[in-house]
Amino acid sequence: MVNNPRSIGLFGGTFDPIHFGHLRIAEEVADYLALAELRFIPAANPLLRQPPVAAPGHRLAMVRLAIEGNPRFSVDERELRRHGPSYTVETLEELRKELGEQARLHLVIGADAFHGLAGWHRWERLFELAHVVIAARPGHGLDHGGIGLGEALGNEWRSRVRGAPEALRDSPAGAILCVPTSLLDISASRIRRLLARGESVRYLLPGAVLDYIQANRIYAGD
Ligand code: ATP
Repeated sequence: MVNNPRSIGLFGGTFDPIHFGHLRIAEEVADYLALAELRFIPAANPLLRQPPVAAPGHRLAMVRLAIEGNPRFSVDERELRRHGPSYTVETLEELRKELGEQARLHLVIGADAFHGLAGWHRWERLFELAHVVIAARPGHGLDHGGIGLGEALGNEWRSRVRGAPEALRDSPAGAILCVPTSLLDISASRIRRLLARGESVRYLLPGAVLDYIQANRIYAGD
């Protein structure tokens, strides 16, 4: 279709394991921005945090199970295949080349992760490659004036933040948008802690993912 560039969401994370917090915000962001597709991109070797507990193959398998049956969702394995650290900026550069200059790319990121964005490798370049779309997360509110983001990120915030999804429609990258997603106080680290103690994690993540975790004795704490 002429003059109707593809609108794509890119959602990176360790997904150790993927849970309903990830899935529900992905679905709500996809609706809010009328995305044609949303790709989950499991990270291999994030530099800014502890290495994942589950092996890359397990985390990939869990993402696949979790998104099964959702026609808008897919998984992109490139970071797991790449050697060395996972830099989001490199992933976006590759995707920009593949998808073309006109595609509207949206980097989906939780509010907690956004607060640390200025620590990411070549982070300013991210805005040249994609819009940055922030999902709400309990305990990580964002002030309208960008207070608390530090000077450099606060400046980017003040010049780039937009109030409505329509404001992102005319450009392939460069804006920041907060999406009023459901506040779901679910984290992978809490799920891992509960599993290690032998406690229930039912209803925090898809049943198929839980079955996989139990069948493969991941996070068992022994
Ligand atoms: P951990 O507890 O191990 O830190 P996590 O639950 O934050 O893990 P990640 O895979 O690290 O999961 O998160 C990937 C992305 O999803 C990040 O941008 C993070 O901010 C976001 N995210 C994760 N859980 C939620 C949630 N419940 N609500 C909003 N955003 C979330």
